[in-house]
Amino acid sequence: MAQRLAQDLWKLEIPLVGNPLKNLNSYLLTGGERSLLIDTGFRQDPCREAMERQLAEIGVDRERMDIFLTHLHSDHTGLAPELIRPGGRIYISAIDGSGLEDGLEDAYWEDVYREYVRNGFSWEEIHHLWDSNPAQGAAPKPWNGRCTLLGDGDRLTYGGRTLRCILTPGHTPGHLCLYDEGKKRLFAGDHILFHITPNICRWPSMPDALGSYLASLDAIRDLEVRELYPAHRAETGALAPRVDELKAHHARRIENAWQAVRSAPGATAYEIAGRMAWSIRSRSWADFPLTQKFFAVGETLAHLDYLALRGRVRQWEEGGTVRYAVTEDPSHTHSPL
Ligand SMILES: [Zn+2]
Repeated sequence: MAQRLAQDLWKLEIPLVGNPLKNLNSYLLTGGERSLLIDTGFRQDPCREAMERQLAEIGVDRERMDIFLTHLHSDHTGLAPELIRPGGRIYISAIDGSGLEDGLEDAYWEDVYREYVRNGFSWEEIHHLWDSNPAQGAAPKPWNGRCTLLGDGDRLTYGGRTLRCILTPGHTPGHLCLYDEGKKRLFAGDHILFHITPNICRWPSMPDALGSYLASLDAIRDLEVRELYPAHRAETGALAPRVDELKAHHARRIENAWQAVRSAPGATAYEIAGRMAWSIRSRSWADFPLTQKFFAVGETLAHLDYLALRGRVRQWEEGGTVRYAVTEDPSHTHSPL
């Protein structure tokens, strides 16, 4: 059931069946000439049914509803093309808008998966992934450039309120938060989550995803926020303390990755991921569901990129496989133990 958060604001809970994120929080701003729906759910029946039912409960005029997408991931964008009516606008950042179109091409995924094979995945695993990755199967289709593209600092006006786009690259290259300065409200997308931490992966267009993410945390830390609305899970809280926790989490993960590289010189990212600690209920790395392995290796690569760019690990290619070791520079080896 849709939850009324304020006179002009609703939260719609969209189930993500079989996904460890559990649910997507869509938000609906009402009260003006037009309404604005923020994020949509996968292009799958359980999401579609929950969305349609809650929009009907609220009684929103669908002919006067626009959609804002915080970022390109399919659990946020999947339903957008079918929810929008003629004349309605779909907003996304210019960066993620083009990334979304790339993701509809098989050639894009072939390149991504080839990169994962270079980093230790087997082709057999990749063939299974091809059929099961929700980024491929539950993404919006057809997209065909039906979006209004936004950049950092762009403003939208709904119900007499001004909402400012804040570019926060890291979780995706063009992630946007939406800030209502009047009400001190921040729609944080997947930039700030509570209880769980946003997945930070390597991206072809973002050579230092983790560095970008940490900079994007700093960029919003001191924003005046009274209401913080994350895109997943029920929990929320205060902004600055959560930013500090997320930064501390990644500082630990960076050391965890460095230790994993040190303990197995010449390991692949896939093997290093298997030596890192993950908060997932599987007995061992071998038991990880394949899509979770894919995200875990992507996250490991983002941490390895961070370490490599700062001279703490080195990488080399051997027979088509990328391997890692810590650098011998003594100034970098007194890591906290
Ligand atoms: Zn996401």
